[in-house]
Amino acid sequence: MKKLALHWQILIGMVGGILFGFLMTQFDWGKDFVGDWIEPIGTIFVNLLKLIAIPLILASLIKGISDLKDIARFKKMGIRTILIYICTTVVAIVIGLGLVNLLKPGVGLPEETKERISAAYSSNEKIAKTQETAAMQEDQGPLQFLVDMVPDNAVSAMSDNSLMLQVIFFALFLGISMLLVGEKSAKPLKDFFDSLNDVVLKMVDLIMLTAPFAVFALLATVVVTAEDPEILLALLKYAGVVVLGLVLMISFYCLIFAVYVKKSPLWFLQQIAPAQLLAFSTSSSAATLPVTMERVEEHMGVEKDVSSFVLPVGATINMDGTSLYQAVAAVFIMQVLWPEGLEFSNQIVIILTALVASIGSAAVPGAGMVMLVIVLKSVNFPDDQLPLALALIFAVDRPLDMLRTTVNVTGDATVASVVAKSLGKFGEPKVKEWDDHFDEVSS
Ligand code: ASP
Repeated sequence: MKKLALHWQILIGMVGGILFGFLMTQFDWGKDFVGDWIEPIGTIFVNLLKLIAIPLILASLIKGISDLKDIARFKKMGIRTILIYICTTVVAIVIGLGLVNLLKPGVGLPEETKERISAAYSSNEKIAKTQETAAMQEDQGPLQFLVDMVPDNAVSAMSDNSLMLQVIFFALFLGISMLLVGEKSAKPLKDFFDSLNDVVLKMVDLIMLTAPFAVFALLATVVVTAEDPEILLALLKYAGVVVLGLVLMISFYCLIFAVYVKKSPLWFLQQIAPAQLLAFSTSSSAATLPVTMERVEEHMGVEKDVSSFVLPVGATINMDGTSLYQAVAAVFIMQVLWPEGLEFSNQIVIILTALVASIGSAAVPGAGMVMLVIVLKSVNFPDDQLPLALALIFAVDRPLDMLRTTVNVTGDATVASVVAKSLGKFGEPKVKEWDDHFDEVSS
């Protein structure tokens, strides 16, 4: 019997999880039951993905760089990658700003809705924490991001998933130095990282065997912990604008794929679907990264020296979905609470700060909302209104986070394909299954 494609298995798991979650909300004990018995399955899965993220980046980037025959090519790839990332992010912000100004979701929001939301969320702990984290990031100097990129201890950089850029820096440094010592001296180290890379990709295959069950658990948890459905409905217009923008962004990627990469967008979506579904279920592009890398390399045919650089960098700095969301959310909040601030000059400031903020956002759930505080402060949004501003969008943040993370991951895969195509490094897919060598170890 032909096996059901992975993305269908995951989709079935997701739908099952949502239905199960709704069923559990009908019982008083349902939420606790999901928290005690279902949620841990999702947490273990996300931990497994995070567990292999650093070894995978390290091994594949060092392999990718040390395979290069010429350093000038790397420079070309680096510059192209950063420029294309900036361009797609600007497109996302402009789409977001265009839609929110055109559809004005915040104009005419009933006073009682505002009061209800304020009463429900203004003293919410998570909102207070979001503000604290934003204040910490805001106090930093302009070159802090460069300082943060260079670790003072390689081992401690590798011990913290949020320091991915430091690991990328170390891997690049090591890979380039390996090129410079010449083939003979670099060979033992290169063989080691080649082998580590193959092994870690096999670990991705094994983890993915459990994905349909894990997404069931993740989505059931999201449903039972969701906010009050009536508040969700009151914010439907705002959420609708973000969703419309995200759909336009996916269409934009498909267009780039058809026109520049010259492959069918449907084929692209099919190959990348498992990564998208995981991004949706986990709300974390960092946790999804191993799967994104596996799909782009093995299932789409992007060569490793491109994907191993473009994708980890993209997971940390390229967040088109997040930047689109920040633009829509900032203007929506201003439409509701501070209409006098909606001048043209402020919208230009939003473009610039949303660009920088999305680069600075961590690839973890809810990070976009932290950086939104910085976007709002950049236009001098009144400080005393900030808790209410965040309260306004808090209820729908999780579902929107799931969607924008899906777009973030799709954007990274698109740019990896564009860079690969431009360097003649878009080859044929070579799909590996988890049990390719199983016979050799089973009697
Ligand atoms: N959760 C997003 C990501 O991991 C970031 C955000 O928008 O909050 O890509």
